[in-house]
Parts: sequence; structure tokens; C-alpha cells
Amino acid sequence: MSEIDLPEDHPRYQSLLTRHRIEAGVEKGITSKQGLIAEGRGEAFDYLLGERTIPSADQAAQAAAAQLLLADQPVISVNGNVAALVAPEIVDLADAVGADIEINLFNRTPDRMAAIAAHLREHGADEVKGLTADGRIPGLSHERAKVDADGIGSADVVVVPLEDGDRAEALAAMGKTEIVIDLNPLSRSAESAAIPIIDNIIRAVPNMATHARKQQEMDREALDSIVDSFDAAAARNAGETAIRNGELS
Ligand code: ATP
Repeated sequence: MSEIDLPEDHPRYQSLLTRHRIEAGVEKGITSKQGLIAEGRGEAFDYLLGERTIPSADQAAQAAAAQLLLADQPVISVNGNVAALVAPEIVDLADAVGADIEINLFNRTPDRMAAIAAHLREHGADEVKGLTADGRIPGLSHERAKVDADGIGSADVVVVPLEDGDRAEALAAMGKTEIVIDLNPLSRSAESAAIPIIDNIIRAVPNMATHARKQQEMDREALDSIVDSFDAAAARNAGETAIRNGELS
């Protein structure tokens, strides 16, 4: 089934679309088989959230956009699921906030790195980092620690969507300000984030770009106040409450 064949009025349209993109990602050599499992976990949380952006996740997206506009060297980390789900949207967000895009894989193979880089370029990315791998994240084993020294290695603010908990913790321990997009408010990634966005990446990334474009004319003081008024623990709690108490339609 192609994306065009998916009936938009289907009650599970968004999850069918997500599954279809991940499946296509596996076929193109972009997404790993483990990526299918990560997708299943995310889908269960999204089902309980009601497949919607809750108000606290929208506030988090707003704070994340402001934090990216304030950053000296923002980088958006992309793995196989992220590339399969939202490649054009990631390119657009990078453009809106002036961020670099870096491929960062848990299961790093030269073929997958090349396939993801080609896929991002097909969707408009000029420069794709991650292939040089001349930097390391301390505290992780060799392959999982690889980053570009002039990318994630020296970034001050990093967007890490759908990230493995170990790496999210190790990046936070390096002193990076982390923006995590993860549907599981209890994941270690969400817990190590300065700004956790408890939302489906399919909704969160375009939402961040929309907020960033609205904030582009704001001065630093106004952006600072958006970031300062954001409460990460409250956002995680609101996500957890929505998931636990949500009324399924
Ligand atoms: P932890 O952070 O607790 O160690 P993990 O390392 O086991 O978790 P993975 O199984 O690698 O996490 O899964 C990645 C995370 O991404 C999961 O928490 C899952 O809920 C989340 N996720 C999967 N798909 C999406 C999506 N489309 N949007 C947002 N989050 C998603």
C-alpha cells in the first residue's frame, strides 16, 4: 500500500501512516529491524495519549524552538526511525532554527549511514554530519560513542528524538542541553532532557518549526523567558497523567 492509498478518514490513519513509513524505511535500508520494535512501543503510548498533541507537549515544543534559536551551535540528531518518519520536516526545522543535521545511529553500519544521508539529501538537506565520526561521547562503547567533533561533539543544544536511554544520559552528562522527543514520559531519555516533548515525532517536529518561525523576530530576553518558564518535570508528569487517565475514543 502506498501513502496515497491510505484512507485519510480511517480512525487509525496516523498510526497506519507511521507504520507504512517505518516499513518503507526498513525496505530502503534506512531503518533497522529494532526500529520496528521501537515504533511499536511508541505507537502504544500514542494510542493511550489519544494520538494528539497535549497542551504540555505544545508548550515543550515552544520552549524547544526558543532554546534552539538561542543556541550557539544547535544540532538535530537523526536515526533510522527519524529519517523514515520525518526527513523533510527535519530539514525544514533545521532551516527554521539554523541547526546542523547529524546522523547518529545505535546500530551504526556504513550502508545505513550512506542510505540515511542520501535520503536526507533527497529531501533537501545540504550538509549532513555524522559520517566523519572524529569525536566520541565519553562513557559509551566504541561504535555507539561516535559523533562528529564539529557536530554533536561541540554542540551546545542537541535535539535527540527517539533516542536510546544510555546515549541520552551520556550526552546530558557531557553538559549538552538536550531536547528529547519521546512518547514515553518515563523513559530515561525523557528524564535526562532539559526539554522533554512527550509527543509523536510526526506531530512534534513540524510543530517546533511553526513555533520557531513565529519566534524568529523575538529578542533574546523574550526567548529566555519562554525557556525559563518551562518546567520539565511538570511536562513529564502531564504526559504520564494523560496516558494513565486518557479516555480512549
Ligand atoms: P529508555 O530511554 O527507557 O532506555 P529505550 O532505550 O529502550 O528506552 P527504545 O526502545 O530504543 O528506548 O525506543 C525509543 C523510544 O522512542 C521509546 O521510548 C518509544 O516510546 C519512543 N518512540 C517510538 N516511536 C516514536 C514516535 N513516532 N514518536 C515519539 N517517540 C517514539
